[in-house]
Amino acid sequence: MSEQLRQVLSRWEINPPVICAEEASGELRDIFDNLCGLGVVRPTASAGATNCTECGERCRVEFISDQSGARHGYIHCRYCGVTKAPVHRLARWEIDTAAFLGACFSGVNISIQERVVGQLWQVGKANWAGRSREIWFARAFRRHQVAAAVQKLNHHPKAILFAPTEVGAGRWREATGNLVISLDAVVSLDGDHLSLDVDDVEGRIIDAGMGSAPQKKRTSKKRADIAAKIEALTKEVVKFLQAARNHAFDTMDRNGEPDLLKRPFKKKFCDLAGLEAYDFSRCHDDEDARELRLYWEMTEDLDQIMKFKGPISRGRRT
Ligand SMILES: [Zn+2]
Repeated sequence: MSEQLRQVLSRWEINPPVICAEEASGELRDIFDNLCGLGVVRPTASAGATNCTECGERCRVEFISDQSGARHGYIHCRYCGVTKAPVHRLARWEIDTAAFLGACFSGVNISIQERVVGQLWQVGKANWAGRSREIWFARAFRRHQVAAAVQKLNHHPKAILFAPTEVGAGRWREATGNLVISLDAVVSLDGDHLSLDVDDVEGRIIDAGMGSAPQKKRTSKKRADIAAKIEALTKEVVKFLQAARNHAFDTMDRNGEPDLLKRPFKKKFCDLAGLEAYDFSRCHDDEDARELRLYWEMTEDLDQIMKFKGPISRGRRT
C-alpha cells in the first residue's frame, strides 16, 4: 500500500470526497494520472477557494463570466487584493465511488448498486474461501447517520463489508455484525491498475470462522502460522498443568492439603511460547484451539489439575 493510495482512500471517507489541484500536482502526482485513467477520480466543479498565488493565504474564489460566457476565477486575498486565478489551480476532482469499486473488485462478479445514498453500496458476489459471498461497501461513517445503512446490513449478516480505511472499518465493525475489511489493507496500485489481495481477504474470512474450504485452510500460510502458535501455546499450558499437578501432590504430602499453583499471566505463557502477548486471545478464540481452551480452563481448577493425565506423565502419581 503506497502512502499516496492511502491518502486517496482516506479522502474517500470524507464528504464530498474531493481532491484539489494542489494535491493532484503535489503529493499525489505519481499516481494521479493512473487514477484518472481508471476513472476513479473525475473532474468536478471548480474550487471555491484556493491559495493566493502571491502570499499563499487561503482565499475565496469568485467566478465571473465574460461576454462570451467563459467563466474566470478571481482570487480575493485580503493582503494582495484581487488576482485572476490560473485555471489549473482551481481544478478539482471527485472520487467516483462506483468506478473506484469497479477498479478494486475487477476480478469479481460485479453489479454495483447504491443502497444508501453516498454511504452504502452492494458491490456484487465473489467465490471466496469456498463459498459465494456478498460484497458490500460502506464509507463516510457518521455516528448519527448510519441507521439506514446498518439496518440494510442487518439483513445481510454474512456479507463481507469493505470500507476505505481501517478507522472507517473499525466503526462499521462496531455498528454491524459483519466481517469488515479495510481496502487499505488489501488493495494496492500496481502500475495502472488496482489489485485486490484475494489471499489476504480469504485469510480474514477464515480467521473470522466463516470459511468453508478445508483445502484452502491447509494451504493458507496464515492458517499454518496460527496453527503453529496454538501448538506452542498449548505446549506451555500443558507444562504448567504438569507443574501444578506436581505442586498439588507435593503440598498434599507435606501439609495434608493440596495447594493450587498460582497461574502466571497470559503474557508469561506467550513469552515462553515465543509469541507476542496479543497472540493469546487470537489463539485461544480460534476455532481449531479446542484443546488449548480445555487445558486453559483446567489451570484454575484444582480437581481437574489433580486428575490431569497430560501427554508426558513423568512424575505422575496414581
Ligand atoms: Zn495574498
